[in-house]
This record gives sequence, C-alpha cells and structure tokens, in this order.
Amino acid sequence: FDLIAKTDSEIAELMEKELRRQQHHLELIASENIVSEAVMEAMGSHLTNKYAEGYPGKRYYGGCEFVDGVETIAIERAKKLFGAEHANVQPHSGAQANMAVYLAFLKPGDKILGLDLSHGGHLTHGAKVNTSGKMYESHFYGVDPETEVLDYDDIRAKALEIKPQMIVAGASAYPRIIDFKKIREICDEVGAYMFVDMAHIAGLVAAGLHPSPVPYADVVTTTTHKTLRGPRGGLILCKEEYAKKIDSAVFPGHQGGPLMHIIAAKAVCFKEALDPSFKDYQAQIIKNAKAMAERLVENGFKIISGGTDNHMMLVDVTPFGANGRDVQNLLESANITLNKNSIPNEKLSPTLTSGVRIGTPAVTTRGMKEEECVYIADLITELIKGGEAKVDEIKAKVVELCDKFPIYENN
Ligand code: PLP
Repeated sequence: FDLIAKTDSEIAELMEKELRRQQHHLELIASENIVSEAVMEAMGSHLTNKYAEGYPGKRYYGGCEFVDGVETIAIERAKKLFGAEHANVQPHSGAQANMAVYLAFLKPGDKILGLDLSHGGHLTHGAKVNTSGKMYESHFYGVDPETEVLDYDDIRAKALEIKPQMIVAGASAYPRIIDFKKIREICDEVGAYMFVDMAHIAGLVAAGLHPSPVPYADVVTTTTHKTLRGPRGGLILCKEEYAKKIDSAVFPGHQGGPLMHIIAAKAVCFKEALDPSFKDYQAQIIKNAKAMAERLVENGFKIISGGTDNHMMLVDVTPFGANGRDVQNLLESANITLNKNSIPNEKLSPTLTSGVRIGTPAVTTRGMKEEECVYIADLITELIKGGEAKVDEIKAKVVELCDKFPIYENN
C-alpha cells in the first residue's frame, strides 16, 4: 500500500494488518468470500470519480458515454447469468436492493410475510428494528420445530390467514434447498407478490446447483459479494413488466448516483461467473460444506436440520456445554473466523446464542477441498473440547494450512 502509506500511514498500517489477517485466518463466515484481483482492480479505479445519476442513455450528467458502456455490459451479463428479463445493477447493497423492492411494490402499512430472523431470515425481511418492519406490517413464518426445515403447509396457512401483499423468501442462515415453486403457488393462492432474496445462494443459483427463483418470483434480489464472489453490492432481477417500477424505485426513489467503480466490478464478477470454471467452484463449495457437516456430526455436534444442501451449516454447540459467543471468541483466538448464530427454538439470548454458522465459500476460493474441510472440522472440535489450553497448537496448524493455500500473494 505504498501510495496510501505516503498519504495516510495510519490507514495503510491497518490495511496491511487486515490483509495479513485474511491471509492467515480461516474465513468461515458464510456471507464472505475472497474476490479476484480483477474485481478489486475495478473497485479501486478512477471510475469512482464519475457521477452518472440515471440509467445508460438517460443520464443527468455529461461525460457518461464510457460508464454507460460499463453499466450496459453489467446489465446484460446479469440477465444472461440468471436468465432474467430485466436487471438493475445499481443498488449499493443487499439492504438497499430490498428497500427498493418494497418501495416499488408496496404502500406503507402493507403486509409482508417473511422468514423469522431467529429461524434464518434477514433483518430486511420485516424485522421490527429495520425499515421493512417499521414501514410495513410484517409477519413471519419459521421452520418446523422437529425437522428444522421450512414447512410449506405452515407458510400457506399463515398466508391464508394474514393475506399479505408480498411473501418474502430467502434467508441468511438456512442450509436447505428452498422450494420456490411451492412459494409461487402460495403467492398465487393469496394474491401476493413473490419476492426472493437469494443473497446467500446466488452463486449456487448462477451455477445451476440450487433451483433458480427467477422463473417463479416477480422480483429477485441478491448481494454480489457472497457465494457470487463479486464486489460488495446489490442486484435486482425482475420480469420486464416491472422494469420501470424497479428502476425508478432504485433511482430516484432510493438512491442518488450509482457507484460506477462497483458496477464495473460487478460486470467483472458476472463474467467470471459465466465461465465454466465457476460451476466447478460452486460444486466444490457444496461438497466442502457436506464434508465438514458430516465430520462435525461424527465428532458429536448437532447440525440444524441434520446437514446441508448448500454452502453453509448451522451448528448447535450446546452438546459441548458451550454457547455461540464463547465458541466464536475461542476460535477467533486460533485464527478461525465465524459467527455465533441463533438456532431454531433458541433458548439463549441473541448475544449468547446456542449455535455458530459456518460457510465454505471463502476456503473453497483458496482451493481447499473435502480433505481440508474435514481437517478444519477436526481442528474446531479439538479446540472446543480442549479450550484455551489448545489455542496455540491449533492456531499454528491453522496458519500452516492457510500458508498452503495462499491468497493475494503479490501483496
Ligand atoms: N439479504 C440477505 C439474505 C443477507 O444475508 C444479507 C446480508 O447478510 C443482506 C440481504 C444484506 O446485504 P448488505 O449487507 O449488502 O446490505
């Protein structure tokens, strides 16, 4: 970071430390990934200088001919990648994309029905502390208490009772396949819009390894930085009939100028995702998650719903007399990064939690396969069983493993 160091040594020093952290820690946060240097180059570029309120060919500023080209390519690639009729690549984040969807389809006070936060839903799906729960009358469905998977009969019963204007599907912590066709049927029965937030699984959907919501939903959002492995940002896909509504809900409804450097990085990410190698990458993410989950079960953990079909798993750590917060902190001290997470039928407070969420997108990007994921599951188990006394030994093993799968080697 030579240029930054010359201007701002404090930030350069912290950036250097964060780089070393990423290089020497195992990143198991399910919503994180490691972008390519091409994606990073686009993000850290002169495109940040350009104001381009509006859309390609219809801007409120001069000098947009080249950024128009960038945004048009990003839109076309997003449509191709997901087989969508329309794409808006401007949302600054997943939350912004979701707010634009509500603005486009609902009036304040309308009813939405989404997955409960404590069952794996996202804040923006109607949580009371979020705009989505303050502006709209939010209701929730959950997972079945026994099977810990979505119960579509229960969603249908709730939808029939509540008669929401919109049903929100998608999750931040749900390890199983979501049946979008069934949700469409429920939406049709009650006359609700169907909105799918596929942020976590977008990479799997792009690779054809999770059924796509695009043919069923009226509107689909995603972040671009999770399994999709692009820059931090949002994306909205919808049917052509809603294109105008969505575009004007994003701008001028919800945002000002688009971030052209990020849109360029999204375009690069979509190109990478259209490459056949992306499918292999996504398939490996799933294989790695399955291998890790199976090993954790063998080692005595309880995995919510008994396993995983996607990139993540929820692990109940209480069989070891532990809680999510303490496990997160203990693992962090041995360079293993993940997050505590509530589990269905949670008995502890949200600051403690009974579980942790583990995802394999980032370690898979590093090149790790099933063998390494089984090894990681064993390291986690050894550490939780052994406690503080084991930290130094496990940390040394983690660093050794990270060094075998280096990232950003030129830095
Ligand atoms: N939707 C889902 C399902 C998410 O898991 C997340 C982030 O974790 C978001 C939306 C929000 O994305 P962002 O952090 O970019 O606002």
